[in-house]
Amino acid sequence: MKVKFSLIIMTLLLLFASSNSSYAKGESVTVKEPSVNARSGPGTNYEIVEHLKKDETFTVLDQKDDWIKIQLSKKKSAWVANWVVTISEPKKQLKPPYATITASSIAVYSKPSFQGEKVTDVQKDNDYKIIKEKNNWFQIKLPNEKKGWVPKWYTRSQLKETVDSSTDMQVTALFDDVPLRKSTSPYSEIIKTASKGDEFTVTAIKKNTYEVKLSWGKKAYVAGWLVQASKHTPQIKMVSEQHDFTGKTIVIDPGHGGNDGGTIGASQTLEKNLTLQTAQLLERLLVNSGANVILTRNKDEYQSLSSRVKYSNKLQPDAFISIHYDSAEQSDLRGVTPYYYHSYQKPLARSIYYSLQDKSKLTIREERFGDYHVLRQNSQPSVLLELGYLSNKEEEEIVTSYAYQEAIVTAVYNGLGNYFAGGK
Ligand SMILES: [Zn+2]
Repeated sequence: MKVKFSLIIMTLLLLFASSNSSYAKGESVTVKEPSVNARSGPGTNYEIVEHLKKDETFTVLDQKDDWIKIQLSKKKSAWVANWVVTISEPKKQLKPPYATITASSIAVYSKPSFQGEKVTDVQKDNDYKIIKEKNNWFQIKLPNEKKGWVPKWYTRSQLKETVDSSTDMQVTALFDDVPLRKSTSPYSEIIKTASKGDEFTVTAIKKNTYEVKLSWGKKAYVAGWLVQASKHTPQIKMVSEQHDFTGKTIVIDPGHGGNDGGTIGASQTLEKNLTLQTAQLLERLLVNSGANVILTRNKDEYQSLSSRVKYSNKLQPDAFISIHYDSAEQSDLRGVTPYYYHSYQKPLARSIYYSLQDKSKLTIREERFGDYHVLRQNSQPSVLLELGYLSNKEEEEIVTSYAYQEAIVTAVYNGLGNYFAGGK
């Protein structure tokens, strides 16, 4: 038993070590120890050819087991142990305009003409920084602070400054507790949760998610609608069931706010904060699908019920959605309920009820009549959603999780989409 156990540990260690020691050719490594021996071969039995200093950077040429072959200088290479170096952070490389010589050997002149004095010769495939261009000639920078002119037609030039954009694809978490998952599925394991403002490097875009790099080299996936893409990163469309809300106006009403905190959860969650979070998530989803969205409040402030309903009666939106979380004396009460008041509000409540059913772990109650001010006084298709009981400790934990927020908001989104499409 003990032998088996240590074998497993050994295997794990080996796996860990080998996954750590993978260096791509051309990758850059930085010396992380104060003094490191570079050797003539991949092992400590080979002779030392050079001592490397901390923070020196080298290009990887090859690797063998735990040893890496590096480029010491233009014509010299050596081997170092992989545990004394780390992969260098990729840097943005700004390449100035440069010309590559395409002729086998050409003369460089003091003037942009063959009448000039010959300064030197340059060879094929060498790159030179371009200083100026004149009459189809390039003035190039030569070694030792010299310069001279070469005919443009014997060169291949890169005139624009180019930026290595490998590090430019980035996303920023829009909220606290944004889940980074193991796969593109919104139900897969959460590897890490990000806080609002956390930035991640994007390595790929798959379906509606960004594949991002975590600090320890691992990859994770984050839903496109929970992050803001940087200007170099393509913004992706965000939901699995895509609906087109172009031309639709939707008012979202996050319940309570300001002095009116709403319900206080068994573990102290304030309803007013959670309703705002849900509303803002829903807003983001809808706006991304072309909807015109108005929130009755976009911060922690008090709004009377009549002023909330005024948004609806004045703007006459295609839908009005009031968001709440429930509480009850009996702490075992659980579940989600969509409410309507007028019969013209019922189809919307029903559509949301249908799409909630297959998205949530919670008990979903059929839409029902509810005498709420924001419904009763409302001329528009409206629904009031009680999205779970904060008074139930277990349910409070579920509804405040991002997994739930993601699922519930997607369900409401789909319910709205189906409603507008004339479906169930
Ligand atoms: Zn409420």
